[in-house]
Amino acid sequence: MNIFEMAHIPLNKAIEVMQLDAGAAAIIATPERTLEVSIPVKMDDGSTKVFTGYRSQHSTVLGPAKGGVRYHQNVSMDEVKTLAFWMTCKCAVAGLPYGGGKGGIIVDPAQLSKRELEALTRGYIDKIAPLIGEKKDIPAPDMNTNAQVMGWMMDEYSKIAGQFEPGFITGKAIGVGGSLGRTAATGRGVVVAALEALKLQGIEPYEATAAVQGFGNVGSWTAKLFCDAGVKVIALGDVNGAIYKADGFDCYDVDAYAKKTGSIVGYPGSKPITNAQLLAMEVTVLAPCAIELQLTKENAADVSASIIVEGANGPTTPEADEILEEKGVLVIPDILANGGGVTVSYFEWVQNLYRYFWTEKEVIDKQTEMMIKAFHEVHAKAKEYGVPLRVAAYIVALGSIAEAMKIRGMV
Ligand code: NAD
Repeated sequence: MNIFEMAHIPLNKAIEVMQLDAGAAAIIATPERTLEVSIPVKMDDGSTKVFTGYRSQHSTVLGPAKGGVRYHQNVSMDEVKTLAFWMTCKCAVAGLPYGGGKGGIIVDPAQLSKRELEALTRGYIDKIAPLIGEKKDIPAPDMNTNAQVMGWMMDEYSKIAGQFEPGFITGKAIGVGGSLGRTAATGRGVVVAALEALKLQGIEPYEATAAVQGFGNVGSWTAKLFCDAGVKVIALGDVNGAIYKADGFDCYDVDAYAKKTGSIVGYPGSKPITNAQLLAMEVTVLAPCAIELQLTKENAADVSASIIVEGANGPTTPEADEILEEKGVLVIPDILANGGGVTVSYFEWVQNLYRYFWTEKEVIDKQTEMMIKAFHEVHAKAKEYGVPLRVAAYIVALGSIAEAMKIRGMV
């Protein structure tokens, strides 16, 4: 089963449970459009290399398409289409006036010089320019793209449009219209969702422990904000390995160590453990914040956490979901748990359209309020239909999308 088919399993359950209109179900099953582009780049050695890129707009029913651009050697059209589909659902669950999109280029950016990376980025924007714009499709960072890449994209698109276009892209540096609070936003949302789940289970944050897989943008902020909330973080992992500390990490100090050394592994006073041990750790909350397909039918039975909060996109396979449900583990799904990033991207876009900027406190307060509302809306649907939170999140998303389709005369 490829990732696109896997992503449709909970969607199809939701369609069945809520008895969604067949026309709406057929529309949601495929992206509105997917563009494949070839991007020639003059390399530093004088040769010319042609890279392949994609932009998929899964849906523009609720608003312009919204979603990041990923630079990775394993990018494929299937992956981009799946991520675009998740964005549609994520934006709808969060209550944002957006559809879903995603882009990607097949490239290992570590192999390019800064000049080559800038040329590739500008070439990609030139090729997808007819599809994008602040009212059409708004890109953002994803794996291996950052505020610098967004800055080049904004500059290139502004040149094409012949005017300053900050609202066409989010995740920018503050100096060119970025929003305060964006860097920590996804991790903040993960923690807000986990704290709401703890409340439901009658557990105070200071009574809870956590294990976090991944220590990049999402994982490091999730870990640090768990610490701020009083949750004891006892296990951390990254691509190089995992570490354990029974009395809990000072995650800000681990972050400083990882920034200095390039990994959390070897952090003074920690005990090395395996990635498998991290995922099976006896903790209250397990937060997979690294990559897809981490909890599978092979290891789901080993999970000891009572709550899983998915910072990463697609970390749990459908088979693992079934095992976790049988074990009574509460899984807060990606399209709910990691929607904090796109929520603050939406705030950035609003600020760009207004040319008026908010304080960090305003951003955090508004984000927290929206995420708590989304969490309880999904939880209420789960109770109403007797389904897991993942299926309930799709029911919430499909409800808004199908209503808009009906009003727009599409079904
Ligand atoms: P990142 O590249 O900053 O960090 C990824 C982390 O995962 C790194 O610490 C890396 O070492 C670790 N990792 C990679 N492979 C691993 C493996 N096999 N085992 C254990 N650890 C591994 O990426 P990020 O922006 O933090 O994104 C992480 C996940 O969250 C992705 O699935 C992404 O799509 C999703 N996500 C990110 C955002 C965002 O705002 N950055 C928003 C929503 C969802």
